[in-house]
Amino acid sequence: MAASPLERRYAPAIILLLLAALVVVIALWASERSGGIGALAGRDGVQAGSGDQARYTWKIVTTWPKNLPGLGSGPENFARMVGEMSNGRLTARVYGAGEMVPAFEVFDAVRQGVAEVGHGASYYWKGKVPSSVFFTAIPFGMTAQEINAWLHYGGGLELWREAYAPSNLIPFAGGNSGVQMAGWFRKEINSLADLQGLKMRIPGLAGEVFTAAGGSAVRISGGELYTSLQTGVIDAAEWVGPYNDLALGLHEVAKYYYYPGWHEPGAMLEFIINKDAYEALPPDLQAIVTVAARAANQDMLDEFTARNNAALQQLVDNHGVQLRELPDDVMQAFHRAGEQAMKDLVASDPMAAKVYASFIEFYDGVRAYHHISEQSYINARDEVLDRAD
Ligand code: CA
Repeated sequence: MAASPLERRYAPAIILLLLAALVVVIALWASERSGGIGALAGRDGVQAGSGDQARYTWKIVTTWPKNLPGLGSGPENFARMVGEMSNGRLTARVYGAGEMVPAFEVFDAVRQGVAEVGHGASYYWKGKVPSSVFFTAIPFGMTAQEINAWLHYGGGLELWREAYAPSNLIPFAGGNSGVQMAGWFRKEINSLADLQGLKMRIPGLAGEVFTAAGGSAVRISGGELYTSLQTGVIDAAEWVGPYNDLALGLHEVAKYYYYPGWHEPGAMLEFIINKDAYEALPPDLQAIVTVAARAANQDMLDEFTARNNAALQQLVDNHGVQLRELPDDVMQAFHRAGEQAMKDLVASDPMAAKVYASFIEFYDGVRAYHHISEQSYINARDEVLDRAD
């Protein structure tokens, strides 16, 4: 059957239209392959981003015993999150203290590239980097909420990275315990006199303060605390707070549990990442590392806040723990010694002086505001609710 004059007239236009449709289909397919439209629609995560399909396997060494809840959940959460977010392109395995390297060799192991990541507390390295004490906690310093604000919006993180740069390490906040407990004592502390000659596990600048107040501070890793208290190598130990201290069983070797945590009002943990390992990652995996660290940082504080009270009740009700408040003269002595320890630190190390200037300026501001916000509210809340009881 012959084509009609009308069909002959429009045939070229129909062929052009079909060709155009084919070009559009091919263009969409190519765009999706390269991560364009497909990535925006979330339809093909593996192909998304830079197109770098290399796989990375990291080792995380920690200063904590393996499977410790609380502090130990930080590196585990981080490892799980980077694996899930990268769809397996970046995976990480966590090693507890002593599995690959001892607790206090984590810094050097990551600096040298033995492991790509370390999780611990920056103040463990004050002998190598004196300014590191600011990035965990200083006596009578900032709370968790305040130190996170200084770190991420007050210039703290930039200073931390400057302090660690000579060690080939990039630090990230790696969790926070909130206000800690002052620690476990084998005998009661009724006045400053009872502190004299007492040997206590207490790290960081607070250790120097404790020694200046008449005690004797030692640095012992978490995994060795129980035995050290049990055998009388030490008379007292601070670790974290009820949730983590219960996990270590410290109530079995010391009965008096003191508050408040003057020495660690918002102890921040750290992820340290070997600079070469971090820079070898494509930008999308670097972003995943950054976000996973930030999420693990917040998650730890949430976990401690949720679990501490129940753990404390268990310690007091089921294990006969004696809860005590530190006497006034002890707190005053710690404050005086803390002022002097800070002066000595700032005078001895230019980087510590630089970090102190930033820290104290931020602290003065946030303390003034929190006086009329957080503190006023908590006082008002207690007054109203207690009166209603
Ligand atoms: Ca502590």
